[in-house]
Amino acid sequence: MTTLRDLPAVEQLLQTQTAAELIARYGRPLTLIAIRSTLDEARERIKLNPEPALPPIDLILAQTDSTLSAWTQPMLVPLINATGVILHTNLGRAPLSAAAIHAMDVVSRGYSNLEYDLEKGVRGSRLIHAESILQKLTGAESALVVNNCASAVLLVLSTLANKKRVIISRSQLVEIGGGFRIPDVMKQSGAKLVEVGTTNRVHLSDYEEALQEPTALVMRAHPSNFKIIGFTEEPELKDIVEVAHQADVFVVDDLGSGALLDTAKYGLAHEPTIQESLSAGVDLVCFSGDKLLGGPQAGIIVGKKALIDKIKKHPLARAVRADKVCLAGITATLLHYLKDNAEREVPIWRMMSLTLKQVKGRAEAWKNELGQGHVVEGESTVGGGSLPGETFQTYLLSLEIKSPDKFLKKLRKQHPPIIARTENDKVLLDPRTVLPEQEGALLVGLKNALRL
Ligand SMILES: *Cc1c(COP(=O)(O)O)cnc(C)c1O
Repeated sequence: MTTLRDLPAVEQLLQTQTAAELIARYGRPLTLIAIRSTLDEARERIKLNPEPALPPIDLILAQTDSTLSAWTQPMLVPLINATGVILHTNLGRAPLSAAAIHAMDVVSRGYSNLEYDLEKGVRGSRLIHAESILQKLTGAESALVVNNCASAVLLVLSTLANKKRVIISRSQLVEIGGGFRIPDVMKQSGAKLVEVGTTNRVHLSDYEEALQEPTALVMRAHPSNFKIIGFTEEPELKDIVEVAHQADVFVVDDLGSGALLDTAKYGLAHEPTIQESLSAGVDLVCFSGDKLLGGPQAGIIVGKKALIDKIKKHPLARAVRADKVCLAGITATLLHYLKDNAEREVPIWRMMSLTLKQVKGRAEAWKNELGQGHVVEGESTVGGGSLPGETFQTYLLSLEIKSPDKFLKKLRKQHPPIIARTENDKVLLDPRTVLPEQEGALLVGLKNALRL
């Protein structure tokens, strides 16, 4: 009978050639933890069921090896998005352009002029890199890039509205996902929310009435993930701006998705653009870097210089500042718009601008390669807090599978994992969101899951 005392000692295991190799690969501290954990497991097993023979040293080391390999697998991995949701928040929102990836790569490899004025040889500002491009693109007097749009809103309100009134329409008290609510972010800044109107109808007179009392800001939040239909009314932004400015109150527009191009060009509804908000006279506009801009995670504030100068000096500005890698990626992404090649270079716009013929061609090529399935008409969505309820036509590869949910699970186990959807017991794959360079891996994964 095997007793616990017969198990090899840690020291004994460490003297083997295999242990030396594991230490070389994984480092001594982690290897030690893994050896102890494997021995603990063996001990538990023996307690439950004294084995006739000891687990040989080789077996213990082999187990240690697989434990170490499992512990050191990368946790955050790329995957293939075949859902047709272009800006999928759970799948990391916008894929980046080649130029953005390159800019982030070179800046992270070494030192940079992040806060260094190359002309004068003195300390510079990390803010100027994106600012000058944003000024040219939007015509705004000034701009600031921070960690994300939620922090942009928090920073704006903390600077301009702490302990002061902020007027917002009841129809805009949105929850943006992950349980985060715009009103909660606003309250965190110390602002006093003054809600006007009802859920479905807000009149200009509601704003005018609320503006009778001393107020810091009027805020508009883009209802990014829902749509009120039916008996509704909402004043035009320029009219809200007019009554606010008459009362000497600034207007902040939290656009969220922040389009620089017109989505209507692709058969979608029109998503409000940054330029439109500014030309309506809004004083500050906030938007995300990784939604319709198609860049890395960031929050961008554009608008009046006097206000942004104040915001830059608030202590929170330091707490939510963008890092050099983000600034490199955002700047490179913005340059695409400046050079008018965003539709070609920024992946999300490339996906939106794919013609039906192109999408259908890809779905058909997949079908031919697999030798099964049907190409059917379907719908893609933009997602990511933009164009709620809007879909655009696409073609899908539809696979008839006995147990679709089990098949989706198999797809998720591929390397890279593949995320698809089911509808009416069919598994659907949308070519629109599959990056062209991932097509080979997609087909390998599909064949594996189908056991072709
Ligand atoms: C998405 C969104 C936000 C939050 O943006 P993050 O960049 O994710 O912080 C804020 N406001 C609106 C209206 C949004 O749509």
